[in-house]
Amino acid sequence: MKNRGYKVTNQKFDPYINVDPGTMSPYEHGEVFVTDDGAETDLDLGHYERFIDENLTKNSSVTSGKIYQSVIEKERRGDYLGKTVQVIPHITNEIKEKIYSFEDTDVDIVITELGGTVGDMEGLAFIEAIRQIGLEQAREDVIYIHVTLLPYIYGSNELKSKPTQHSVKELQSFGIKPDVLVCRSELELTDEMKGKIALFCNVRKECVISNLTADNLYAVPLMLEKEGLADVVCKHLNLEKNIPNNSEWEKMIDNIRKIGDETVKIAIVGKYVRLEDSYLSVAESLRHGGYANNVNVDIKYIDSETITEKNVQELLGDVQGIVVPGGFGNRGIEGKIHAIKYVRENNIPFLGICLGMQMAVVEFLRNVCNLEDVDSEEFNPNCKNPVIHIMETQKNVSKKGGTMRLGAYPCVLKEGSLAKKLYGKDEISERHRHRFEFNNDYREICEENGLKISGTSPDGTLVEMVEYTKHPYFIAGQFHPEFKSRPDRPQPLFVGLIEAAKKIKK
Ligand code: GLN
Repeated sequence: MKNRGYKVTNQKFDPYINVDPGTMSPYEHGEVFVTDDGAETDLDLGHYERFIDENLTKNSSVTSGKIYQSVIEKERRGDYLGKTVQVIPHITNEIKEKIYSFEDTDVDIVITELGGTVGDMEGLAFIEAIRQIGLEQAREDVIYIHVTLLPYIYGSNELKSKPTQHSVKELQSFGIKPDVLVCRSELELTDEMKGKIALFCNVRKECVISNLTADNLYAVPLMLEKEGLADVVCKHLNLEKNIPNNSEWEKMIDNIRKIGDETVKIAIVGKYVRLEDSYLSVAESLRHGGYANNVNVDIKYIDSETITEKNVQELLGDVQGIVVPGGFGNRGIEGKIHAIKYVRENNIPFLGICLGMQMAVVEFLRNVCNLEDVDSEEFNPNCKNPVIHIMETQKNVSKKGGTMRLGAYPCVLKEGSLAKKLYGKDEISERHRHRFEFNNDYREICEENGLKISGTSPDGTLVEMVEYTKHPYFIAGQFHPEFKSRPDRPQPLFVGLIEAAKKIKK
């Protein structure tokens, strides 16, 4: 739709009660994605940004918790004085306001995704709210697209449409008739199958869209285009079809498909690796870095808790680069430090992200500068050398939800640094999510021994980037570069990592 000339935005509704996913473990919900304006959101927002290349906002991620919190605050303030406050209309109105919040903006199309499954108890208010929107607005202003799964049965080699029929029936019982069905499946839907689904689910045949598993995630929009999804949406919404300008995206997919066999292996040394979704944006950014360097990226997930001084060579000996990503709490920390020591000493490309940067600093002061009792205050508040310490602005913070240093902040890069060379500019903006920071008392000793401070806040007080100059590629940031990488605009630190990995492989 964007490539047809429309201004599009996405939003995700999650029916859980947490106000945002920021207080959940990645094991519950995968990665927490952070927007420029500092919202901690569902990881789907990362996909939205990577696909539509629009920066989303706090309004793009809405949970039941957020809705209820706002309604209860209004009730306490007396905004509903005299009334009984109920799910319908108070909660549903609040939900609708989130959708209508784009009304006076330049956005033409709001794509609102409801998380969960039709019939989930928690999701009912959201379904009711979008039903009401369909009634309040002109018929051609609202379209309901239902995404369903067509399970493939091995053995009899068939796709089953029964679950789709049932979920459509359930949806209809809530007063919503889907206009389009997007059917996730492992096999192409035959014409006959589409006809059957159309008949049983009460939709037009051209509105049954096949959504096959693709060879590359970024090929999906082109596949849906070919299936005619955008055409039926335009027709329903009474929009000019316009010829889509997909050529840039097509070119990108062509180039990805031409990459061939050359592969670099990159380890993500994390503490939440049992669920790959914990590092979704990091993994995507690594792949983007691969596209930019015409090379496949094979990601090896390593649980930092399992790394010891003895086995580190065995675990990391076959990779050409590592990323130590963000994290919280002291489980698995020493393993991260062993890994960083190993790659520093063996000239293996390294990118440290947030906690990964903090641990690179700890490792450096312990093993290169030979200081005693070095740690981050997060793990060891009474250590002699707290080289990472709590931020001034965090000292009086006791509530956990939404209180970290969050969102995009500017960072000034030092002349002659690797960072400056990679970004190709003096000032950058990257997204943050942390409470601890580099302790300025240790700047001098780091610089003297070769760990250069290559990026700081514009006033020079916060260390945002470090790099080790006696190494082919050893760079780390206090921010999360993975949140701004796009398949067609890869993030420089990842491009640099993959380039360096490619070189050492040769
Ligand atoms: N736990 C560290 C902090 O709060 C790092 C956070 C992160 O990696 N996102 O500063």
